[in-house]
Amino acid sequence: MIKTRAYAARSSTSALAPFELERRDPGAEDVQIEILHCGVCHSDLHTARGEWQNTIYPCVPGHEIVGRVVAVGNGVRRFKPGDLAGVGCMIDSCGHCDSCHEGEEQYCENGFTGTYNGPVFGGENTFGGYSRTIVVKESFVLHIRHDEKDLARVAPLLCAGITTYSPLRHWGAGPGRTVGIVGLGGLGHMGVKIAHALGAHVVLFTTSPGKIADGERLGADSVCISTSPQQMAAHANQLDFILNTVAAPHDLDAYLRLLKRDGTMALVGAPAEPHPPSNVFNLIFKRRRIAGSLIGGIRETQEMLDFCADHGILSDIETIPIAYINSAYERMLKGDVKYRFVIDMASL
Ligand SMILES: [Zn+2]
Ligand SMILES: [Zn+2]
Repeated sequence: MIKTRAYAARSSTSALAPFELERRDPGAEDVQIEILHCGVCHSDLHTARGEWQNTIYPCVPGHEIVGRVVAVGNGVRRFKPGDLAGVGCMIDSCGHCDSCHEGEEQYCENGFTGTYNGPVFGGENTFGGYSRTIVVKESFVLHIRHDEKDLARVAPLLCAGITTYSPLRHWGAGPGRTVGIVGLGGLGHMGVKIAHALGAHVVLFTTSPGKIADGERLGADSVCISTSPQQMAAHANQLDFILNTVAAPHDLDAYLRLLKRDGTMALVGAPAEPHPPSNVFNLIFKRRRIAGSLIGGIRETQEMLDFCADHGILSDIETIPIAYINSAYERMLKGDVKYRFVIDMASL
């Protein structure tokens, strides 16, 4: 077994604190990665604090993992020591259901194994990226082709990047299409960058006039202040697709009215309480759809990483030492981060 330092929550009410855990020795199919950086996702906070009522303690969060391969099993073909590698939200799935066969492991009908808090779907607890080393099955490890100096800024692509890339691709964001991105946080800022790079006309919706300049810098063609009925009305029936990243209950009708006939709004934010019910007439009259989307499969995650490397897409981050994690959580709750915290694991 490999001993590694980590940070864990021991209960829903305790702050994250130093912890030691053991990783398995790499088996034939396994890759051992020295973790260099780990992004801080809202799911980490929800899980550490037991807000989804499914947390097994101790809980070591972190599923935006980047680092360097230090050892591989003798059956591993695609990685060798020294390679840069990433691990996202999943480390395993059943491998034999229809979704797994189609490369959509995130929808595994038997439940994928989360990088941390894995027993949601059964099995042993899993410990995530707030640690120095991790051992993962080769088929769930991603190649990173970005320049090594940008590695910290690559980490959030493993969750925030794929969560936005997958629906943008699935619903055809690209040249000649007008795409709305709702919310400019960790997810939204990646959504704006990726939709822009895909060639779509991008309209950012935000409640904050203070984010207009940032929205434009990140790639939005226009920014709409969503609290202004006049500005919202100007976009009525204009959008082919909306990626809604807001994780707080809000009026979905305000956005449904902006979709063209046959347009779709995909929800990727996960509010603790349901959204207020939307008016069915907004769907019926233009055959509009409300949809959802969960991260992306391993093949698509690799495609996203390669796309981002080719287009110079990185997350906008604030790097922190691990000891700052509890303060970082408090700042995330206030929306005080542009746009992702990333932990420098050398600090652990
Ligand atoms: Zn996440
Ligand atoms: Zn499966």
